[in-house]
Amino acid sequence: MENKKEKKPGFFAKLKQGLEKTRGGLLGFIFGGGDERVNAEFYEELEDALIIADVGYDTTEQILDKLKARIKEEKISERTAAKEVLVDIMTEFMTTDIPFLDDEKDNVILIVGVNGVGKTTSIGKLAAMYKAEGKKPMLAAADTFRAAAAEQLTVWADRAEVPIVKHGEGADPAAVVFDAIVSYKARKNDLLICDTAGRLHNKKNLMNELAKMRRVIDRELPDAHVEVLLVLDATTGQNAIAQAKAFGESCGLTGIILTKLDGTAKGGVCIAVKNELGLPVRFVGVGEGIDDLQPFDARAFAEAML
Ligand code: GDP
Repeated sequence: MENKKEKKPGFFAKLKQGLEKTRGGLLGFIFGGGDERVNAEFYEELEDALIIADVGYDTTEQILDKLKARIKEEKISERTAAKEVLVDIMTEFMTTDIPFLDDEKDNVILIVGVNGVGKTTSIGKLAAMYKAEGKKPMLAAADTFRAAAAEQLTVWADRAEVPIVKHGEGADPAAVVFDAIVSYKARKNDLLICDTAGRLHNKKNLMNELAKMRRVIDRELPDAHVEVLLVLDATTGQNAIAQAKAFGESCGLTGIILTKLDGTAKGGVCIAVKNELGLPVRFVGVGEGIDDLQPFDARAFAEAML
């Protein structure tokens, strides 16, 4: 599934720009600092750089162990060659073989995450992206907690030119999802994207709310392929891992959308969420525009980081 679409020229430029500090300041120093030898210093510098890039301590150690083993096996002595191996290892750590969506079925994507991470924006971008690919997306404004949420999502629905179903503030999110499914069936859509309220501070409510939405989906679209994507803001670093753990306990997450990679040096969280929590990154956001979201490509990402 990865890298199916041709990348727009600006996309990786933006990603690289965001990751520039990691590459230029940390990893760039290790790989372009004059010393070409793979020595104890190299491993120390690399360890620091990976931790600073938010890869996380445990995952960093695992990456270094693999790197050392392969460097020994392949008798590598130069950093340039070590870098190629490191790209391979990081790619492996971020890759999943679980397919995303199922073209033979109805597809539902539940979008969860705390407020401000970029849920609304990502839903709008996803709708536009899938519409451009020939799918028929529909949006459900099931964040009924914030008055502005449905309005903002409507702006994105208009931009992406996709239908949206919404209720008033304080309505039952599961009722919104129910109505959306009725409309989805009537219009013969094939992808339903549901916004949800980001109330992590009230975990029990959140859990009940999500479970109720899920029951409606499972009852009304029993054969649907359902994805639950957690939106994480890459600039929050290791806190993103804490959010992923908390949401993972509340609902069965299937993957991650990592936003705001244009504004951070710390892309390492992509490796950490996959390795520590088994959650593959499915999309990355690199800006506020409708085109600034792309399917995640592990190898291209590893290369951009290094
Ligand atoms: P929500 O509260 O989770 O729905 O978050 P929003 O979608 O409203 O986004 C919060 C802010 O983050 C907005 O100002 C967005 O324009 C901005 N934003 C979202 N995604 C990205 C991204 O990939 N890059 C940048 N730079 N800003 C983003």
